[in-house]
Amino acid sequence: MKLLVATSKTQGARENDFDHCVEGELLWIAPCCDDGESSPDSDCGCGRSFGGLSSHRGTTTALVAELPGFTYSDYAEALRSSLAAQGWPPEAAEDVATGLLAFASGWDVGTVLERRNEWFAERLVPAPPG
Ligand SMILES: [Zn+2]
Repeated sequence: MKLLVATSKTQGARENDFDHCVEGELLWIAPCCDDGESSPDSDCGCGRSFGGLSSHRGTTTALVAELPGFTYSDYAEALRSSLAAQGWPPEAAEDVATGLLAFASGWDVGTVLERRNEWFAERLVPAPPG
């Protein structure tokens, strides 16, 4: 199934990009604070970032990846423990998992996404030189 994972691809395409996640870790789309809500370019960055389930850090670039063998219950469990560790209600895990899978299913594998609050757009990955 398709999921969002952290990637450094296209980092720097926006001046305020950041990537504090571990490459390839699972991501979720966390609700953002008031500042993030009013502008995706806020200092905190939450309105333009995806959250790492393991690192609990953020990245502005997410890769749509196919994870063979990874199941819905694996995903819900990963979300449950990460949400709990970060102070979010763990009982939301299944709803969050369902929502993220539906979101990821709408994009092609290999697509790099960026977030502008509730809007998501594909980043065009420049071809390698040569
Ligand atoms: Zn914020």
